[in-house]
Amino acid sequence: MKQFKAESKRLLDLMINSIYTHREIFLRELISNASDAIDKLYYRTLSDGDTGLNRDDFCINILPDKENRTLTISDNGCGMTKEELENNLGTIAKSGSLNFKKENEQKEDIEIIGQFGVGFYSAFMVSEKVTVLSKAFGSEEASKWESTGTAGYTIEPCEKESHGTTIILKLKPDTEDNHYDEFLETYTLQNLVKKYSDYIRYPIKMDVEKS
Ligand code: ADP
Ligand code: MG
Repeated sequence: MKQFKAESKRLLDLMINSIYTHREIFLRELISNASDAIDKLYYRTLSDGDTGLNRDDFCINILPDKENRTLTISDNGCGMTKEELENNLGTIAKSGSLNFKKENEQKEDIEIIGQFGVGFYSAFMVSEKVTVLSKAFGSEEASKWESTGTAGYTIEPCEKESHGTTIILKLKPDTEDNHYDEFLETYTLQNLVKKYSDYIRYPIKMDVEKS
Protein backbone atom coordinates (compact mmCIF):
# COMPACT_ATOMS: atom_id res chain seq x y z
CA MET A 1 0.00 0.00 0.00
CA LYS A 2 1.37 3.41 -0.99
CA GLN A 3 0.60 6.56 0.96
CA PHE A 4 -0.94 9.70 -0.45
CA LYS A 5 1.10 12.89 -0.17
CA ALA A 6 0.10 14.92 2.88
CA GLU A 7 -1.80 17.54 0.91
CA SER A 8 -3.70 14.98 -1.12
CA LYS A 9 -4.67 13.28 2.10
CA ARG A 10 -6.19 16.49 3.43
CA LEU A 11 -8.25 17.00 0.31
CA LEU A 12 -9.29 13.37 0.37
CA ASP A 13 -10.37 13.67 4.00
CA LEU A 14 -12.39 16.70 3.07
CA MET A 15 -14.14 14.75 0.32
CA ILE A 16 -14.81 11.60 2.32
CA ASN A 17 -16.14 13.33 5.39
CA SER A 18 -17.96 16.07 3.62
CA ILE A 19 -21.67 16.29 4.21
CA TYR A 20 -21.73 18.21 1.00
CA THR A 21 -25.14 18.26 -0.58
CA HIS A 22 -23.84 18.67 -4.10
CA ARG A 23 -21.88 15.48 -4.16
CA GLU A 24 -23.45 14.82 -7.56
CA ILE A 25 -20.71 17.02 -9.06
CA PHE A 26 -18.34 14.03 -8.98
CA LEU A 27 -19.84 13.05 -12.34
CA ARG A 28 -19.05 16.46 -13.83
CA GLU A 29 -15.45 16.17 -12.62
CA LEU A 30 -14.92 12.67 -14.01
CA ILE A 31 -16.52 13.54 -17.35
CA SER A 32 -14.40 16.67 -17.59
CA ASN A 33 -11.24 14.63 -16.96
CA ALA A 34 -12.33 12.14 -19.61
CA SER A 35 -12.88 14.98 -22.05
CA ASP A 36 -9.45 16.49 -21.24
CA ALA A 37 -7.85 13.10 -21.86
CA ILE A 38 -9.59 12.80 -25.23
CA ASP A 39 -8.52 16.36 -26.10
CA LYS A 40 -4.91 15.42 -25.42
CA LEU A 41 -5.04 12.45 -27.74
CA TYR A 42 -7.12 14.26 -30.35
CA TYR A 43 -4.61 17.12 -30.59
CA ARG A 44 -1.87 14.57 -30.95
CA THR A 45 -3.87 13.01 -33.76
CA LEU A 46 -4.05 16.38 -35.48
CA SER A 47 -0.35 17.17 -35.10
CA ASP A 48 1.08 13.70 -35.74
CA GLY A 49 -1.51 12.52 -38.18
CA ASP A 50 -0.34 8.96 -37.75
CA THR A 51 -2.25 7.82 -34.71
CA GLY A 52 -4.81 6.22 -37.01
CA LEU A 53 -7.66 7.84 -35.07
CA ASN A 54 -10.53 10.04 -36.17
CA ARG A 55 -12.50 12.57 -34.21
CA ASP A 56 -15.54 10.30 -34.50
CA ASP A 57 -13.73 7.49 -32.72
CA PHE A 58 -13.72 9.31 -29.41
CA CYS A 59 -16.40 8.98 -26.77
CA ILE A 60 -17.14 8.82 -23.07
CA ASN A 61 -19.15 5.96 -21.64
CA ILE A 62 -21.24 5.73 -18.49
CA LEU A 63 -22.32 2.35 -17.21
CA PRO A 64 -24.43 1.86 -14.08
CA ASP A 65 -24.56 -1.63 -12.62
CA LYS A 66 -27.27 -1.99 -9.99
CA GLU A 67 -26.43 -5.52 -9.04
CA ASN A 68 -22.85 -4.70 -8.09
CA ARG A 69 -23.62 -1.09 -7.12
CA THR A 70 -20.90 0.23 -9.39
CA LEU A 71 -20.84 3.16 -11.73
CA THR A 72 -18.22 3.01 -14.46
CA ILE A 73 -17.01 6.00 -16.45
CA SER A 74 -14.68 5.26 -19.32
CA ASP A 75 -12.95 7.16 -22.10
CA ASN A 76 -10.69 6.30 -25.01
CA GLY A 77 -8.43 9.28 -24.48
CA CYS A 78 -4.69 9.43 -23.90
CA GLY A 79 -4.72 7.13 -20.86
CA MET A 80 -2.02 7.02 -18.22
CA THR A 81 1.14 5.00 -17.72
CA LYS A 82 1.90 3.49 -14.33
CA GLU A 83 4.08 6.51 -13.52
CA GLU A 84 1.37 8.93 -14.59
CA LEU A 85 -1.22 7.15 -12.47
CA GLU A 86 1.14 7.44 -9.55
CA ASN A 87 1.94 11.10 -10.12
CA ASN A 88 -1.47 12.33 -11.20
CA LEU A 89 -3.68 10.50 -8.73
CA GLY A 90 -1.33 10.14 -5.76
CA THR A 91 -0.30 13.77 -5.59
CA ILE A 92 -2.84 16.48 -5.89
CA ALA A 93 -0.81 19.44 -4.78
CA LYS A 94 -2.05 22.14 -7.07
CA SER A 95 -5.55 22.01 -5.69
CA GLY A 96 -7.23 25.38 -5.53
CA SER A 97 -9.57 24.12 -2.82
CA LEU A 98 -6.70 23.42 -0.44
CA ASN A 99 -4.95 26.73 -0.84
CA PHE A 100 -8.22 28.47 -0.38
CA LYS A 101 -8.92 26.47 2.75
CA LYS A 102 -5.63 27.49 4.33
CA GLU A 103 -6.55 31.14 3.94
CA ASN A 104 -10.11 30.69 5.06
CA GLU A 105 -10.02 28.16 7.86
CA GLN A 106 -13.11 29.62 9.42
CA LYS A 107 -15.21 28.89 6.37
CA GLU A 108 -17.19 25.72 6.11
CA ASP A 109 -15.72 22.92 4.03
CA ILE A 110 -18.98 22.82 2.17
CA GLU A 111 -18.56 26.30 0.80
CA ILE A 112 -15.00 25.66 -0.22
CA ILE A 113 -15.78 22.52 -2.16
CA GLY A 114 -18.60 24.32 -3.88
CA GLN A 115 -16.41 27.11 -5.14
CA PHE A 116 -13.72 25.12 -6.90
CA GLY A 117 -13.32 22.39 -9.40
CA VAL A 118 -12.50 19.65 -6.94
CA GLY A 119 -11.23 17.12 -9.43
CA PHE A 120 -10.71 13.41 -9.30
CA TYR A 121 -10.95 13.00 -5.53
CA SER A 122 -14.58 14.09 -5.62
CA ALA A 123 -15.22 10.47 -6.61
CA PHE A 124 -14.71 9.65 -2.94
CA MET A 125 -17.77 11.69 -1.98
CA VAL A 126 -19.92 8.87 -3.33
CA SER A 127 -17.58 5.87 -3.41
CA GLU A 128 -16.21 3.49 -0.83
CA LYS A 129 -13.69 2.24 -3.37
CA VAL A 130 -12.36 3.77 -6.57
CA THR A 131 -10.63 1.64 -9.20
CA VAL A 132 -8.86 3.19 -12.18
CA LEU A 133 -7.78 1.03 -15.11
CA SER A 134 -5.64 2.87 -17.59
CA LYS A 135 -3.57 2.23 -20.68
CA ALA A 136 -1.56 5.03 -22.25
CA PHE A 137 -1.95 5.41 -25.99
CA GLY A 138 0.89 3.61 -27.73
CA SER A 139 1.75 1.53 -24.70
CA GLU A 140 1.45 -2.23 -24.39
CA GLU A 141 0.95 -2.21 -20.66
CA ALA A 142 -2.06 -1.29 -18.57
CA SER A 143 -2.19 -0.55 -14.85
CA LYS A 144 -4.78 -0.63 -12.13
CA TRP A 145 -4.88 2.04 -9.39
CA GLU A 146 -7.16 1.35 -6.46
CA SER A 147 -8.04 3.11 -3.22
CA THR A 148 -10.61 2.97 -0.47
CA GLY A 149 -9.62 6.40 0.82
CA THR A 150 -7.03 7.91 3.11
CA ALA A 151 -5.32 4.59 3.96
CA GLY A 152 -3.51 4.83 0.64
CA TYR A 153 -3.65 3.24 -2.77
CA THR A 154 -2.27 0.31 -4.72
CA ILE A 155 -0.97 0.09 -8.28
CA GLU A 156 -0.55 -3.16 -10.15
CA PRO A 157 -0.42 -4.36 -13.75
CA CYS A 158 -3.74 -5.33 -15.33
CA GLU A 159 -5.33 -6.34 -18.60
CA LYS A 160 -7.00 -3.65 -20.69
CA GLU A 161 -7.76 -4.09 -24.34
CA SER A 162 -7.50 -0.57 -25.66
CA HIS A 163 -6.02 2.78 -24.69
CA GLY A 164 -7.83 5.13 -22.35
CA THR A 165 -9.12 5.13 -18.82
CA THR A 166 -11.89 3.27 -17.03
CA ILE A 167 -12.98 4.46 -13.60
CA ILE A 168 -15.08 2.09 -11.51
CA LEU A 169 -16.85 3.60 -8.52
CA LYS A 170 -18.07 1.21 -5.86
CA LEU A 171 -20.80 3.35 -4.38
CA LYS A 172 -21.12 3.86 -0.62
CA PRO A 173 -23.95 1.93 1.01
CA ASP A 174 -27.29 3.70 1.06
CA THR A 175 -28.42 5.00 4.41
CA GLU A 176 -31.60 6.63 5.55
CA ASP A 177 -30.13 10.08 4.97
CA ASN A 178 -27.77 9.41 2.10
CA HIS A 179 -28.98 8.01 -1.16
CA TYR A 180 -26.14 6.88 -3.34
CA ASP A 181 -28.31 4.43 -5.24
CA GLU A 182 -29.73 7.30 -7.24
CA PHE A 183 -26.44 7.41 -9.13
CA LEU A 184 -27.33 4.05 -10.63
CA GLU A 185 -30.54 5.37 -12.17
CA THR A 186 -30.33 6.09 -15.88
CA TYR A 187 -32.77 8.95 -15.46
CA THR A 188 -30.71 10.66 -12.75
CA LEU A 189 -27.48 10.19 -14.67
CA GLN A 190 -28.99 11.60 -17.86
CA ASN A 191 -30.17 14.65 -15.95
CA LEU A 192 -26.77 15.19 -14.35
CA VAL A 193 -25.08 14.96 -17.72
CA LYS A 194 -27.53 17.51 -19.09
CA LYS A 195 -27.11 19.80 -16.09
CA TYR A 196 -23.32 19.80 -15.80
CA SER A 197 -21.77 18.33 -18.91
CA ASP A 198 -23.79 19.73 -21.77
CA TYR A 199 -20.77 21.63 -23.07
CA ILE A 200 -18.63 18.51 -23.56
CA ARG A 201 -17.70 18.18 -27.22
CA TYR A 202 -17.50 14.40 -27.36
CA PRO A 203 -20.45 12.02 -27.28
CA ILE A 204 -21.40 10.80 -23.83
CA LYS A 205 -23.01 7.39 -24.17
CA MET A 206 -24.87 5.50 -21.54
CA ASP A 207 -25.24 1.76 -21.64
CA VAL A 208 -28.72 1.12 -20.41
CA GLU A 209 -28.82 -1.78 -18.04
CA LYS A 210 -30.51 -4.97 -19.06
CA SER A 211 -33.14 -5.83 -16.50
P1 ADP B 1 -7.29 18.50 -13.06
O1 ADP B 1 -8.29 17.90 -14.00
O2 ADP B 1 -7.70 19.87 -12.61
O3 ADP B 1 -5.87 18.44 -13.57
P2 ADP B 1 -8.03 16.25 -11.42
O4 ADP B 1 -7.92 15.99 -9.96
O5 ADP B 1 -9.41 16.26 -11.97
O6 ADP B 1 -7.28 17.61 -11.70
O7 ADP B 1 -7.17 15.17 -12.20
C1 ADP B 1 -5.80 15.00 -11.86
C2 ADP B 1 -5.00 14.51 -13.06
O8 ADP B 1 -5.23 13.12 -13.27
C3 ADP B 1 -5.34 15.17 -14.37
O9 ADP B 1 -4.63 16.39 -14.55
C4 ADP B 1 -4.88 14.11 -15.38
O10 ADP B 1 -3.48 14.21 -15.62
C5 ADP B 1 -5.14 12.82 -14.64
N1 ADP B 1 -6.41 12.20 -15.07
C6 ADP B 1 -7.57 12.19 -14.37
N2 ADP B 1 -8.53 11.54 -15.06
C7 ADP B 1 -7.97 11.13 -16.23
C8 ADP B 1 -8.45 10.40 -17.39
N3 ADP B 1 -9.71 9.99 -17.48
N4 ADP B 1 -7.55 10.16 -18.37
C9 ADP B 1 -6.26 10.57 -18.30
N5 ADP B 1 -5.77 11.27 -17.24
C10 ADP B 1 -6.60 11.54 -16.22
MG1 MG C 1 -10.26 17.52 -13.50
